[in-house]
Amino acid sequence: MITFDLDDTLWDNIPTITKAEFETRKWIENQVGFVDWGTFEDFLDIREALIKDDASIAWDISKLRKEIFRIKLDHIQPESLRDEIVEGAFELFISKRHEVTFYEGVEGAIQKLSKKYILGVLTNGNADIYKFDIGRYFKFSISSLEAKDSKPNRAHFDEAIKQVDGINFDNILHIGDHQINDILAAFNLGIETLWFNNKDMEWDQDFTKPNEFKEWKKLPEIISNKYE
Ligand SMILES: [Mg+2]
Repeated sequence: MITFDLDDTLWDNIPTITKAEFETRKWIENQVGFVDWGTFEDFLDIREALIKDDASIAWDISKLRKEIFRIKLDHIQPESLRDEIVEGAFELFISKRHEVTFYEGVEGAIQKLSKKYILGVLTNGNADIYKFDIGRYFKFSISSLEAKDSKPNRAHFDEAIKQVDGINFDNILHIGDHQINDILAAFNLGIETLWFNNKDMEWDQDFTKPNEFKEWKKLPEIISNKYE
């Protein structure tokens, strides 16, 4: 079985999220006028305060996003109007968040691998693989919402082995871009790993660097050469 991270592994996430964020803010401001969105540090402070009140905010990032909108639109009355805008904004954000450009070769590689392996998704984000055509090649998808936790914690991996009879950590390969959330997390459980390193990052962990790749079109061959 092969499990995949999504953001920054199947597509470049920064342009996607930046555009989704920008267009959602613009949509909100078209209705309510200027909103002081604050800095990234403000966001982190608000997030921390929200998590203190409701621990599920740490892994329910859709709820987090709605709560942040609600706080930023605190001045909008009546509350029913504010809630309506929050829901509309979130819907728009989620739809824009799925306007991704897959890295070259992703579709072909996934299709090929699906003939030989059970494929699954393990993501901390709220993109839904089943909203894309290639979703049909994946047997399961576990986000932080389902895992009620985030990688590098083990919940995603524990959920993954529950999806298929006879699968345990010994017969999984996990593929992802993040040295900690993907590679260290899987390594700690004895899961084989393959690091997607298309940005030529330095290996920064104190265990041996796993195999790496940067071109999706070579993935089926790499897997058959190194893991079979
Ligand atoms: Mg990632």
